[in-house]
Amino acid sequence: MTVRVALVLSLIALCAVSAAAQVQTQTHNAQAVTKPPVANTQTPVAAQPQAPAATPVAVPAGQARVHDIRPGPGVTAVKMLSSYAPSLANTAGDTQVYILEGKEPGGTVFVAGGTHGNEIAGIMASIVLVEHARPQKGRLIVIPHANNSAITDVDPERPGPKTIALTTPSGERQFLYGSRRTKATDQGAPDPPKYLHPNPKSTEELPGTEARNLNRAYPGVANGTLTQRIAWGIMQLLKAEHVTVAFDFHEAGPDSRLAWMVVANPKNLETAAAAVLELESLGLTMKLEPSSETFRGLSHREWGDETPAQTYLFETPSPSMVNDTKGVDFVNDPKLPLSKRVGGQLASFMAVIAAYNADAPAGAVVTLADVPAMKDVEKTGVGSFLR
Ligand SMILES: [Zn+2]
Repeated sequence: MTVRVALVLSLIALCAVSAAAQVQTQTHNAQAVTKPPVANTQTPVAAQPQAPAATPVAVPAGQARVHDIRPGPGVTAVKMLSSYAPSLANTAGDTQVYILEGKEPGGTVFVAGGTHGNEIAGIMASIVLVEHARPQKGRLIVIPHANNSAITDVDPERPGPKTIALTTPSGERQFLYGSRRTKATDQGAPDPPKYLHPNPKSTEELPGTEARNLNRAYPGVANGTLTQRIAWGIMQLLKAEHVTVAFDFHEAGPDSRLAWMVVANPKNLETAAAAVLELESLGLTMKLEPSSETFRGLSHREWGDETPAQTYLFETPSPSMVNDTKGVDFVNDPKLPLSKRVGGQLASFMAVIAAYNADAPAGAVVTLADVPAMKDVEKTGVGSFLR
């Protein structure tokens, strides 16, 4: 047994312990829940145990927010998410999808930023990929604003500035700072008293506002609420583009258990462990957890369970995700500047891709040039990798 394999196995053993603890806390306040009634459909329910039953929701017409994102040398096409899921057309949930196709064939990597509109390191790391990365082998598909409604709202619990400003080679640029959840007036339905994910394995009873949390809504519903439609659209993209590795970039409060964490679908936990070891050698300590079996609707869980893609979620610590943000510098916090967090997201991303490539068949390898290294982002700032 090589040292690396031994280390990976012991890391996975640690993860299993942590997962058991996680499941225990998660199920702690689970109660006997009444599952929502199953609508009449022609397909027997037993054949599709994970398909949420739903009557169509009338989502208000709206315009997808267009952002100041300047496609870099790697971008070969720009689409809308509604091209994969027509029910998103003319809603505030439609969003830009950037395709960066390498010269040589290979695997397809997908990145979602902005699942939560107030987790700006994930959004900015995604935008750096769009404006700077150049795939050589394979493809990179990036959605910088996965919940394009949430980015237009102010989070009622943790309000932030309307925008953040970054200095770039072309001058100062502004980027929206949003909310964790879909804007209530875009959703098409009032929040339920409690939110229960329809998957039969789900044990989590969440506050009703979580019905507007994109990262509780997967695999989504084609004609559901706006949040469910966005989730559905992203699932359709993963399937249509035959995505091989998928990432969801997030942030957590600095004191959260989730800060500096990789969450991986259990099927690709070994690859995640190899990446975490690689990151340790770069001086970045990331924790690792497998997706919970009973906490449903999360990207790493449902993307990985419903498609062949390996799936990963990263959490960097954001100084703004605290109850009192008075005096917090959202970009240049002395301990946790945006540059350190974006550098951490990109380093984790590249470490997973390297670990994935180590086991991938030759035709599914992905190589990406010009993804800035963590130390360079920390040294020169996020803006220096924008246009
Ligand atoms: Zn998040």
